Amino acid sequence: MEIRSIHTLDDVRPFINFEVNVGGGTLQLEGHEYYCIDQSCNCAIVNIMVHEVGGSRLTQLIYGWRPYKHYVKQNFFKRDCESMVRGDLSLPEPKTHLNKMILAGFQNWLRQNKKEKDELFAGRYKKFRKKIREIGEDEIGGFARTKVLSDNEMIEVLKNLTQSDIADMIELYGKITKK
Ligand SMILES: [Zn+2]
Repeated sequence: MEIRSIHTLDDVRPFINFEVNVGGGTLQLEGHEYYCIDQSCNCAIVNIMVHEVGGSRLTQLIYGWRPYKHYVKQNFFKRDCESMVRGDLSLPEPKTHLNKMILAGFQNWLRQNKKEKDELFAGRYKKFRKKIREIGEDEIGGFARTKVLSDNEMIEVLKNLTQSDIADMIELYGKITKK
């Protein structure tokens, strides 16, 4: 699952704040949000870059604030839909103890007033999308554009496919051919 995303343009200050207890101490964390810029896409997903307050990046989370059925409709795999609505570590992030604690801290932050926070994400996503439409996707710069792979890069990707990637591709192929 590749999601083209870029930092929210409105507010570069992190707005997500929570803490986790690790090894007898408390880590103060904050999160920056990133949204998809693809105007033909209606994923409604936020990527959250988590770092220690004033410190370096620790991990990245993914969260979907809309109901489960919205994500199923976007053709995501069912297990991805389930994890998105709960909040999860982004795909490449290792499931270390610290990362799991950070995820639990985020889910706890969310639970404190889920309805209000979901509305907050929805509102910021809407504002972000409006700004993208005004500015135009191309003006945002190369970072945001879809990466086109060279033949050599493609070969590397294919060599590194795992069993589960292949299972995903077969499932996706099944979905496409059924239509
Ligand atoms: Zn999208």
